[in-house]
Amino acid sequence: GQATAILRHLLLKLRATGPVTVAEYMREALTNPGQGYYTRRGGIGEGGDFITSPEISQVFGELIGIWYISEWMAMGKPKAFQLVELGPGRGTLTDDILRVFKQLASLLSNCDVSIHLVEVSPKLSEIQAEMLTEGKVQSNPKNKSAYMKGISKTGIPIFWYRDIQDVPQGYSFYLAHEFFDALPIHKFQRTEKGWREVLVDIDPEVPDQLRFVLSPSGTPASENFIQPEETRDHVEVCPDAGVIIQRLACRIEKDGGAALVADYGHDGTKTDTFRGFRNHKLHDVLKAPGTADLTADVDFSYLRKMTQGRTATLGPIKQREFLKNMGIDLRLQVLLQNSRDTATREQLLHSYDMLMNPKEMGDRFNFFALLPHHRLADPEKKHKPESKSPVAPVAGFGELLLK
Ligand code: SAH
Repeated sequence: GQATAILRHLLLKLRATGPVTVAEYMREALTNPGQGYYTRRGGIGEGGDFITSPEISQVFGELIGIWYISEWMAMGKPKAFQLVELGPGRGTLTDDILRVFKQLASLLSNCDVSIHLVEVSPKLSEIQAEMLTEGKVQSNPKNKSAYMKGISKTGIPIFWYRDIQDVPQGYSFYLAHEFFDALPIHKFQRTEKGWREVLVDIDPEVPDQLRFVLSPSGTPASENFIQPEETRDHVEVCPDAGVIIQRLACRIEKDGGAALVADYGHDGTKTDTFRGFRNHKLHDVLKAPGTADLTADVDFSYLRKMTQGRTATLGPIKQREFLKNMGIDLRLQVLLQNSRDTATREQLLHSYDMLMNPKEMGDRFNFFALLPHHRLADPEKKHKPESKSPVAPVAGFGELLLK
């Protein structure tokens, strides 16, 4: 086939300066400003390359919205909060959350809510603006931080940024759904001579084709990113995810709030998870870069480590358990009772199955949260161990109590 623009660019670069890290390859393929997959395509949804939970069912986003309300209440109903979403895709998840905020308007009436979206893709930010504001946005080239702003269909201000560091400080709830799995990873292989990094190079046998090679010696990444106690032979590390989690943990420690992370992932046990998707089928990661989604499972043990104890963490727990704790079964019953035609009912049952079935997303998807230490530990309890803890359980990870 025809070499893609990114492939041509990479071939020139590889010929001139030698192999690149998998992270550099992934960054080019996904977010190259001119030709990256998310920059140009970002095919999320049934007609695209991969489907995500918020695109499967509105119930998913509604339950996430309830999670934030429940945390806001448990933390004493602060007078204002920012909802900050990293990598909002088509904007569906925030749209579903905003609908819940509107339905619970009486609860939130004295609370100043604003939405802050961190998105690098111009194409997807356009789709988000259409979904959330019906196009009522202004681009903001003079403002150094937010590159676009608008007002949601429900009347809430929305701002767009390229980087989490541009989002104003303040009490915030963070959301990252299938965001961390899109960030570039480094890959390492244990050899008899020590750790080596997996690199991407030109295949000398086939013209215009790429292949994986091992670095002949250690690399800066292999020397810095592998934990001394590592027992696996093949390891993937996503330093960008570490940096972002560190920022979230610092912000939550300083200003309060919480972060909810949901993604494919493991707790430091998996080895080789780098893969590509195109038209809902597995796609060779080295073929036609820029035309397929590339992803790697999130290592939650690494994220936990990178909070450096600044916040408490909960999870990862399976999506199936999280949604069950959030009351998905009751919500399904209500929707089934309210729907008159069999087609709608079948659709509801089918999407429930996609979210909950262990063979679909139920077991493969995980929820993980960062919370201020005081949210989980009751300082009084130390002195009165016999007294019942007044600390409310965190919804999703425990039972949902709205009070
Ligand atoms: N959360 C959405 C979309 C997931 S796809 C859903 O679940 O449907 C990943 C999203 O992250 C896309 O919106 C993509 O453009 C964005 N993204 C990828 N890399 C990014 C980066 N470095 N900074 C900000 N956004 C990024």
